[in-house]
Amino acid sequence: MGKNLADLDLRAFLFDMDGVLFDSMPNHAKAWVHAFVSLGLKFTDYDVYMREGMTGSSTINEVFGAQLNRTATEEECQRIYQFKSKYFESLPAATVMKDVDGVLAAIQAAEKEIFLVTGSGQASLLDKLNHAFPGVFVKERMVTAFDVKKGKPDPEPYLMALEKGGLKANQAIVVENAPLGVRSAVAAGIFTIAVNTGILRDEELLNNGADLLYHSMAELKADMARILAVAQHTL
Ligand code: MG
Repeated sequence: MGKNLADLDLRAFLFDMDGVLFDSMPNHAKAWVHAFVSLGLKFTDYDVYMREGMTGSSTINEVFGAQLNRTATEEECQRIYQFKSKYFESLPAATVMKDVDGVLAAIQAAEKEIFLVTGSGQASLLDKLNHAFPGVFVKERMVTAFDVKKGKPDPEPYLMALEKGGLKANQAIVVENAPLGVRSAVAAGIFTIAVNTGILRDEELLNNGADLLYHSMAELKADMARILAVAQHTL
């Protein structure tokens, strides 16, 4: 907590994808837990949600370090990540996050720009987004795994989105669901809304510096008129 909505010169919203636009975290959790438990290692859904946004190799190396006292080889990283990805792809496709369409509609009605900032590197991302949210996301306003070197929790992805949009940090609001995503956005100096759509305690998001916290997209949607009024100084 630290920034004030009333201090913004609001021009854009920067959206994370997994756990924000799509209800995809339950599938990621299932797949990661399956991959580690298959190797006789301990890993829980909570562990997955806490690490959302981390690269696959970092996740694997953390678990190896804590439980096997060594780092994973490049070959092990690739094999485990492929195993996880294959299982993930076998699960029923994630649905659109309930009520996020209402949040996006409120932003479009207020004529603010919408950016996507995701660590995902799926080749068919834009098709998937266009199918779920017709006309909302465009390539020029997207930052994905292909664009960045460091990824979240480094501020790089959100700083890159600001640069793409010719925006200053006080001209945007980030919408995130993950502790490391919140940390990335806060480190970029951007007002950050956390929506706790998963299983984590609120503290995990608040302790990383979220400026506002909601428990669902319905809750955020219900507060959008107030947020926009304060940030546009029309209240
Ligand atoms: Mg997320």
